[in-house]
Amino acid sequence: MTKKEQNRESTVSLSKEQIIEKLTTTVIGRNLSLFDSVESTNLVAKEHIQRELVDGEVLLALEQTAGKGRLGREWTSSKGKALTMSIVLKPLVEKPYLLTQLTAAALAAALSPLADFGIKWPNDLLLNNKKVAGILTETVYSGSTLEAVIIGVGINVNQDASDFPDSILTKASSLKMELGSPLDPNAIAAAFLNSFEVMYQQYLQTKDPSLFLEICREKSLIIGKTVWIVNGKQKKKARVKDIGTDGELKIIDDMTGMEEALYGGEISIRGIDGYI
Ligand code: ATP
Repeated sequence: MTKKEQNRESTVSLSKEQIIEKLTTTVIGRNLSLFDSVESTNLVAKEHIQRELVDGEVLLALEQTAGKGRLGREWTSSKGKALTMSIVLKPLVEKPYLLTQLTAAALAAALSPLADFGIKWPNDLLLNNKKVAGILTETVYSGSTLEAVIIGVGINVNQDASDFPDSILTKASSLKMELGSPLDPNAIAAAFLNSFEVMYQQYLQTKDPSLFLEICREKSLIIGKTVWIVNGKQKKKARVKDIGTDGELKIIDDMTGMEEALYGGEISIRGIDGYI
């Protein structure tokens, strides 16, 4: 997606045909549905996983009425202004928890012609220190067998400030608000899916996450910083040293001086004086 392509479009609406036209993938998004309004695309994916859905299938919605972030938190989106989608993956991946960071790297790479996006480990994409996209990876098991991984991605594309609840305006923004003009959501969706497929296929073949983890390190907004590590009601200060070879966050506890490794899950990161 070039800047020129984006500028030509003013308020283009989401269209299945226009996304498919721009896809260069062989698997990801080759089956693609666009719903008008759903509770959340991850929920639709989970409900239909056993029967109809195939590997690489993508579900998009113009509107999510009950979008979710991690830990059951709410993910807001305004009808027709945000991209909300789920990618369904069916092959067995060794370490599904790494797919959140793979997705973050793919998104940052896909959007890089527009701006230099930062990654807030493990699942948020920020621009000018505001969250413009988030990722929620969920797994579906049958007994102890991993059946599918569902990757939910929300991208704030064309929202205005008035589309966000006041409570999150200090930390949330849209591409339009940060870049100053509306963008074509179809070009963004396709660029992301194209980038995702390349990284995902490479990971499946090599089983080596170092390529996408290196992007996560390069784009990290927290490596080298002192931050709050929030875990439920507990929080502690720590310096972020690095992202390890297994995607873990390596921190040094401010109080004890001890090194620790954090794995996504329940943890949220906050800046010392603000969101990040
Ligand atoms: P954070 O550190 O920003 O709280 P998190 O990773 O702990 O993020 P997520 O699941 O990524 O949690 O995101 C959910 C949170 O993001 C919500 O609690 C809300 O504060 C914020 N949020 C909700 N909708 C949006 C949105 N459309 N854009 C940006 N942020 C949002």
